[in-house]
Amino acid sequence: MTRPIVATINRAALRQNLAVARQAAAGSRLWSVVKANAYGHGIERVWQTLQSDGFALLNLEEAILLRERGWQGPILLLEGFFHPDELPLLDRYRLTTSVHSEWQIKALASARLSAPLAVYLKINSGMNRLGFRPEAVKDAWQRLQGLANVDEVTLMAHFAEGENAQSVNAAMVTIEKGVAGIPAARSLANSAALLWHPQTHHDWVRPGIILYGASPSGMWADIADSGLRPVMTLRSEIIGIQQLKRGDAVGYGACYHAETGQRIGVVACGYADGYPRLAATGTPIAVDGVITRVVGRVSMDMITVDLTPCPQATLGSRVELWGEQVKIDDVAAAAGTVGYELMCALAPRVPVEVI
Ligand SMILES: *Cc1c(COP(=O)(O)O)cnc(C)c1O
Repeated sequence: MTRPIVATINRAALRQNLAVARQAAAGSRLWSVVKANAYGHGIERVWQTLQSDGFALLNLEEAILLRERGWQGPILLLEGFFHPDELPLLDRYRLTTSVHSEWQIKALASARLSAPLAVYLKINSGMNRLGFRPEAVKDAWQRLQGLANVDEVTLMAHFAEGENAQSVNAAMVTIEKGVAGIPAARSLANSAALLWHPQTHHDWVRPGIILYGASPSGMWADIADSGLRPVMTLRSEIIGIQQLKRGDAVGYGACYHAETGQRIGVVACGYADGYPRLAATGTPIAVDGVITRVVGRVSMDMITVDLTPCPQATLGSRVELWGEQVKIDDVAAAAGTVGYELMCALAPRVPVEVI
């Protein structure tokens, strides 16, 4: 590639983050959540480093890929199967399926499988996306237990606001209504609950975002002292420099005007690379290791940055869009979103290297 943009995936950071998650929930087994192509990091690149007690994901294709690469441990399909037709593949590849709806129980009852499948019975904790209402859980569990096609049943729930203690406590009350008296293992905690609410840990935790070194709350400050490290660094270079006079405009829509004489650097990175178009003037960015700010509108292939704090910057100067120095959470916040979305949106045209 000749265009200077590159995303780097740091295996040592991944390893450290997994260790931090393990330590924070030392009494529980752990699913490494690698859905969405490992949150944009590339499941092929990271799965070996993220080996734990199992992998949780959504796509059958990603599950099969892990099997083909040699992973023999548990794989959990977080949304289960989408159609009864998929059950022979779940059978063949020995996948654990979430069961969140009545039709899935019926499909399991009438499928022809070579051996029973492990099931995660999903409880609606009040988030009202997927899962059985608390009052319906016991009945669903009993019916699953009675099926020849069903092996161990684990009770699963998810939190709508894992960073908010009050909301987690309310969800725990709802969940408890459903699971009381059911002698089954439980899996409730996502990253936020794992870090901040130990009472949710139970038998299996399911961290995703913290494995990749971003904050489940969207605020880096919330994990700054946790030992978690950013895994993905997105870098590029200055490919052009403009000397502006007071009042000169920059970029599409002329939405930034120089307040004084000002040097502007043009960076080879835009929204077609996955950098958020809504990143406003003021979004942090590092040039030659110095934190400065994006100015003007993000274009498809370029962004413009204020070089005032880095007078030494020149053509070819290194730019960090996000990574160790510029936290992805801070870039996301400036664009009104969260680190999750930026990671997942890294564009296929960006070359990726693993260190
Ligand atoms: C994505 C997901 C997780 C992981 O969430 P993080 O916030 O990234 O830790 C856990 N459980 C379920 C059901 C999920 O869909």
